[in-house]
Amino acid sequence: MQETPYHLLPSVSRLLEHPSLVKVRGQHAHDRIVTAIRAELERCRGCLRPQSTIDVDLIAAAILRRIEKDAQPGYQPVLNATGIVLHTNLGRAPLAETAAQAAYKAAKGYLSLEMDLATGERSSRQQPIRTAITRLTGAESATVVNNCAAATVLVLRALAAGREVIVSRGQLIEIGGSFRIPEIMAASGARLREVGTTNITRLRDYELAIGPDTAALMRVHCSNYRIRGFTQSIGITDLVALGRARGLPVIDDIGSGAAFELGQFGFDSEPTLPDSIAAGADLVLASGDKLLGGPQAGIILGRKVWIDAIERDPLMRAFRCDKMTLAALEATLELYREPDAVRKTIPVLRMITTPVAELRARTEQFARTLEMPGLRVGVVDATAYVGGGSLPDQAMPTIVIALESEHWSDAIFSQRLRLGAPAVLARVQDGQVLLDLRTIPEDEESHLAAAVRRAIQP
Ligand SMILES: *Cc1c(COP(=O)(O)O)cnc(C)c1O
Repeated sequence: MQETPYHLLPSVSRLLEHPSLVKVRGQHAHDRIVTAIRAELERCRGCLRPQSTIDVDLIAAAILRRIEKDAQPGYQPVLNATGIVLHTNLGRAPLAETAAQAAYKAAKGYLSLEMDLATGERSSRQQPIRTAITRLTGAESATVVNNCAAATVLVLRALAAGREVIVSRGQLIEIGGSFRIPEIMAASGARLREVGTTNITRLRDYELAIGPDTAALMRVHCSNYRIRGFTQSIGITDLVALGRARGLPVIDDIGSGAAFELGQFGFDSEPTLPDSIAAGADLVLASGDKLLGGPQAGIILGRKVWIDAIERDPLMRAFRCDKMTLAALEATLELYREPDAVRKTIPVLRMITTPVAELRARTEQFARTLEMPGLRVGVVDATAYVGGGSLPDQAMPTIVIALESEHWSDAIFSQRLRLGAPAVLARVQDGQVLLDLRTIPEDEESHLAAAVRRAIQP
């Protein structure tokens, strides 16, 4: 019987001297090259047969591909051509230019994170951001943590540990996987007291549930779903009136964190931070990276006594934001001081409010640059969503470029786009690959076109 020719496989040291691998020595760490060689040799050993022949050049080429793949960062920039503005898997809100710059500067150097430069004394990292939030919203005080989930835990611990919080059954939301109101409530040590039904909760339901163990009333915004038809729920104003009458604080988890009314752009009304404060909510919670258009953060604002209590919680330290986040959030909030400009300066707001007519002109022009053999290009009307658990019902009319490759199926074509450089995420629908420029910055259009060209190559 013929032997399997393992002994003919080149050694690691011989492969290291292969001309194509010698050539990349300067570009890659020795460790990366050796790891790739070992992995490829391992694969070869696994598929060698007695009749196998061995081609060292082919092995070296496979090693080179492994090296290149390994050199790609795990977190890669993506051109988001889905039209979904807040795409949670793509990091939600892209930052405004000034916010990104602020994060970059904070990252590169030192900054007055916890120092009052006038006195040289230690200060709280929350102070500058507190100033920015209270100015924007009219709240008495504010504090910022890692995300809205952390904010919820801290608020419930401060107001209601070991006691009851009353929430409508229509508002027991789940946000992408592990954020579920009943479970967050349990983790915080507060007890959930559900009232009403899925579709109807009346003020009387809250009133009847209030007892000696009640610590707070809570409204949770149905960020990512809507209950329609025969429905009734209690607005924040009525909930605040009840809370006042019974001496109970009211928590308002508004999630999406809009800083102003989006109704003027044709969207359903979302609760806004200033409105919730003006309505008298004692504590308002929101995410920084949804409609606010900033970095991932959990914003807590409202009465100073409660904010002070939250900041005394030892978990505050576990949930605190780093310097880059705080610098980026401060710069984002600064942009809101120019209310007329903010629709353009904050990317999320710019994208969701781009008029279809403007998008159509841009899309038609871009589509012409894609005309090439092997690719069918069309411009068609479509629908997009804000995403990220915001405005779930709001289908935004949009325009997309519909592509069909002669060589590749829609699935392979879209995978080739994802694996390209830059990576492009497109929508696939009815056998076509759809590109929505709504979520592509204008200065990235040439990169998008180049990526499409590379992806259709046979
Ligand atoms: C998104 C959302 C959360 C969770 O916010 P993260 O910042 O993702 O932790 C909590 N509550 C509501 C109402 C939300 O919309």
